[in-house]
Amino acid sequence: MAQPKYLTGDNAGINEFLDKFDTFLFDCDGVLWSGDHLFPKVAETLELLRSKGKQLVFVTNNSTKSREDYKKKFDKLNIPAKVEEVFGSSYSAAVYISRILKLPAPKNKVFVLGESGIEQELATENVPFIGGTDSALRRDIEPEDFTALADGSALDPDVGIVLAGLDFHVNYLKLAHAFQYLRRGAMFLATNTDSTLPNARSLFPGAGSVGAPLVTAIGKQPLALGKPSQAMMDAIEGKFHFDRSRTCMIGDRLNTDIQFGIEGKLGGTLLVLSGVCKKEDFMGAGDGTGVVPAYYADGLGDLMG
Ligand code: PLP
Ligand code: CA
Repeated sequence: MAQPKYLTGDNAGINEFLDKFDTFLFDCDGVLWSGDHLFPKVAETLELLRSKGKQLVFVTNNSTKSREDYKKKFDKLNIPAKVEEVFGSSYSAAVYISRILKLPAPKNKVFVLGESGIEQELATENVPFIGGTDSALRRDIEPEDFTALADGSALDPDVGIVLAGLDFHVNYLKLAHAFQYLRRGAMFLATNTDSTLPNARSLFPGAGSVGAPLVTAIGKQPLALGKPSQAMMDAIEGKFHFDRSRTCMIGDRLNTDIQFGIEGKLGGTLLVLSGVCKKEDFMGAGDGTGVVPAYYADGLGDLMG
């Protein structure tokens, strides 16, 4: 198996790498920052790429935040970026529902298992939704709920889609609602299926782990709209019109970011070691998945040479 090329301190090697691409797709957490900690030389590296005329797109699987929320995060960390350059899994799901699925109203209503980022992006695409942050669902299930769910009186007949993302208030009542909609034929979508959610100190259950009870209950997988789903790649390409052979995906996770770039037949993939993956995961025998980036570097700032 081809081993990835290490990009470090060698200006000739880095310039050759940069010259190969016109567009860079950036994963955010683990590449630009970890939580609220900005990695070294990130703003300078992005500035260098912009000065060379490269197109930048920030592609995140974080469904809890909208593109507007991300813009605020870029501003807070003093990284120049435009809201139009951000493409998150919530936005990807909203665009897929409104522009590709196009279920006829009123059956286009979405039951959301997730946070406000999903609600905001559905609203910008004029997709009706229920669930989500609705406080009425933030309680224990009661015996009468089982009755009302079973006879359908607690359900909205217009729901045609269940969209699962990371929900910090997930509970049995919400799962029971989602499951009943799925049983009645609603489409099963997920913003992303990341198994874990990294923060600066550890890993926590990710969106995939929150939606997993529904997968077990209904016995099928959702269509995921985040990395590595090619539905997301197609949606990004539809908006930014890049040449895949001259595009590089930069990420910190093999089974989302690097897989996304490889399946999308991009010209290159770069794994940075500032996030969740270690060198042993892809060097030598690797982690057994066979997902190997074309390049790797210790951190994004190393592209400064
Ligand atoms: N999902 C959630 C809820 C997150 O908070 C994060 C990282 O902050 C992610 C997914 C992964 O995001 P990214 O694709 O930018 O690494
Ligand atoms: Ca990441």
